[in-house]
Amino acid sequence: MGPSNKLLILYTRRKINATVRRLAQEIARDYADKQPVLIGILKGSFVFLADLVRALDFPLEIDFIRAASYGKGTQSSGKVTLMRYNRTVLKGRHLLVIEDIVDSGLSVRCVMDYLQAKKPASVKLCCLLDKPERREVPVDIDYRGLTVPNKFLVGYGLDRAEQYRNLPDICYIEEL
Ligand code: 5GP
Ligand code: MG
Repeated sequence: MGPSNKLLILYTRRKINATVRRLAQEIARDYADKQPVLIGILKGSFVFLADLVRALDFPLEIDFIRAASYGKGTQSSGKVTLMRYNRTVLKGRHLLVIEDIVDSGLSVRCVMDYLQAKKPASVKLCCLLDKPERREVPVDIDYRGLTVPNKFLVGYGLDRAEQYRNLPDICYIEEL
């Protein structure tokens, strides 16, 4: 990013916080007695997952899966590689996938298919941001935070070339 580009706030930390709380209430209603495994898709979801689980006051477990789609710049290539780090048994468990943003839908589709094959009791999806204009494959979103415009967003876990994940607000970059 050149020195003349500007970061503009799309959603403030306050707005994000209210959205996370609302999602936590919806999730608590459905999962309070199910001991779910929340599965964060790395890396982008790490901030959202950390805030979300601290708003949930019932027994749950946390796991991670890495979904990397190697493409040029801000465009996903469509090829998604999955990596898991541990051996939490997923069979028979209630799984809730936690994603930062659903864009083309390819990453989440790949993760959901992988998890379904583990024969869990259920698999649902929670995403903070939904960018429906760019969808290429249909995705059922069970818990949706905010529907966002077709802009490339950074902050609150979202990166551009690994930068900006630490911004507390969700921003877009104005190319000047
Ligand atoms: P999809 O496979 O749905 O096209 O893309 C999902 C992944 O692409 C997200 O987990 C995220 O890492 C990345 N992505 C999609 N849209 C954006 C965006 O606006 N900003 C950033 N930083 N990443 C995005
Ligand atoms: Mg990503």
